[in-house]
Amino acid sequence: DAIAAGDLEKLAVLGHGNGGTVYKVRHKSTSATYALKIIHSDADSTTRRRALSETSILRRTTDCPHVVRFHGSFEKPSGDVAILMEYMDGGTLETALAHGGTFSEERLAKVARDVLGGLAYLHARNIAHRDIKPANILVNSAGEVKIADFGVSKLMCRTLEACNSYVGTCAYMSPDRFDPEAYGGNYNGFAADIWSLGLTLFELYVGHFPFLQAGQRPDWATLMCAICFGDPPSLPESASTEFHSFVDCCLKKESGERWTAAQLLTHPFLCKCPETF
Ligand code: ATP
Ligand code: MG
Repeated sequence: DAIAAGDLEKLAVLGHGNGGTVYKVRHKSTSATYALKIIHSDADSTTRRRALSETSILRRTTDCPHVVRFHGSFEKPSGDVAILMEYMDGGTLETALAHGGTFSEERLAKVARDVLGGLAYLHARNIAHRDIKPANILVNSAGEVKIADFGVSKLMCRTLEACNSYVGTCAYMSPDRFDPEAYGGNYNGFAADIWSLGLTLFELYVGHFPFLQAGQRPDWATLMCAICFGDPPSLPESASTEFHSFVDCCLKKESGERWTAAQLLTHPFLCKCPETF
């Protein structure tokens, strides 16, 4: 049965984003817990457009175990748009890193396998996420890892689509996003997701954003130069050969050389993930 706004009771604020506020809510009659993202009616038109686009993408992905499950959406009389999703009780990988410290390779192999499962599903349906980063990957106490926040995702018309718009979180953007001409000719939204996944795993292993030193404040111009003109970052020596190789396959500057999600699902690094994790 469809859930209406009046059936839900707010319990807590889970997070704020550019888009709106996410609440932990309780369904009054079943006591089930959900996450409810509310985009206020006074939000700017871009934000409202993103909310509608996020809804239409989440609606198409409800049979993927690696995408946060969509349970419906409604527009309140006030004009607020609300998106009801499954509640992920472990929060984001960004907070897991901040509170629990860096991740072991076994844990990263599990994250990689689940996120790649989600990306392979999305890419096969022509959807590019375009904002893969630790803050947009959620975990729960059942050990599941899921992709969230489809606010800037895109249903691509063709496999390769030229794109000059800056969407997503700049730091995680691939060189081909900044300068499509210089890197393989065309900006490819699918390959860009793989770059962002490589940076995400790298960050969770070393504890800070790859192109910056620990504690260094991000300066946008320096960062963009490092991403476009520097060599891709490489992992410390403590990382295994398999992990080095996996990250290298994600962080190829030429988007055409980057492995696809389907190819990476066969990479030996994923064998480090214990089945029972
Ligand atoms: P931004 O664009 O700034 O990343 P946003 O407005 O698009 O943010 P989300 O990233 O979807 O919103 O959610 C914001 C925060 O709310 C997340 O970082 C997370 O902490 C929390 N959150 C979102 N969805 C859920 C969920 N299903 N379960 C638990 N927490 C969630
Ligand atoms: Mg977000």
